[in-house]
Amino acid sequence: MTLFELKHPDRLALFLDFDGTLVEIAEKPDAVQLAETTRETLTRLKRALDGALAIVTGRDIEKIDAMLAPFRCPVAGVHGLTRRDALGRAHGALIEATFLDEAQRRLERLARTEVGLLIERKSHAIAIHYRGRPDLEHACLEVMEGIARLDDRVRLVRGKMVIEARPTGGDKGMAVADFMMEPPFSGRQPLFAGDDVTDEDAFEVVNRQGGLTLKIGPGETCAQYRVADTASFLAWLGETADTLEKGHAID
Ligand SMILES: [Mg+2]
Repeated sequence: MTLFELKHPDRLALFLDFDGTLVEIAEKPDAVQLAETTRETLTRLKRALDGALAIVTGRDIEKIDAMLAPFRCPVAGVHGLTRRDALGRAHGALIEATFLDEAQRRLERLARTEVGLLIERKSHAIAIHYRGRPDLEHACLEVMEGIARLDDRVRLVRGKMVIEARPTGGDKGMAVADFMMEPPFSGRQPLFAGDDVTDEDAFEVVNRQGGLTLKIGPGETCAQYRVADTASFLAWLGETADTLEKGHAID
């Protein structure tokens, strides 16, 4: 499957979302598993790109490390609020633990009376997943709007069947821009692939930087290219790893 002609694949800096991009979305976030072939593909790509591969996800960095292990790479977590760069240095925004505690209490009150909701507390944000109860979208939104009013430095971000309360500040686009100022990413052409509305910030930044943007699945987007689903994207990723390794062999 040729999506687009990569003129200099060895000059790419690859930025990949995780859920819906490298793994199929599951009913519960903890139920997803990275396929061994995908782990191998990531390992091959990172080697061929001299380390210029990062995961840019809504999850905590620690969760991603655990899912990818023993593979490890730079990661931006919580939609760009936290970041571990190529040297292993941590960058992050601040959020009050007391705010997260109060938000958790309010969400638990809702989840106790309604089964099928899932609360996800992260290091820098808190989210409610209603994939198991799409009928409760409005109820979840109401509680989350109340939570957002507790602190004017907090904003809501909506994803697929999930609403998250997080500090204003970083987003996936800013995380990519930060990576692109540092080795081994700087001087390369960024390529960002993602499936959700939170990836749009990154698409915008990468488009502006003359990079390539790829949307997985349906939905409005400012990405330049689209693939139908996660499986098609993973097939393309594997082929890109093949191309890169062939290029290295010729050198
Ligand atoms: Mg995603």
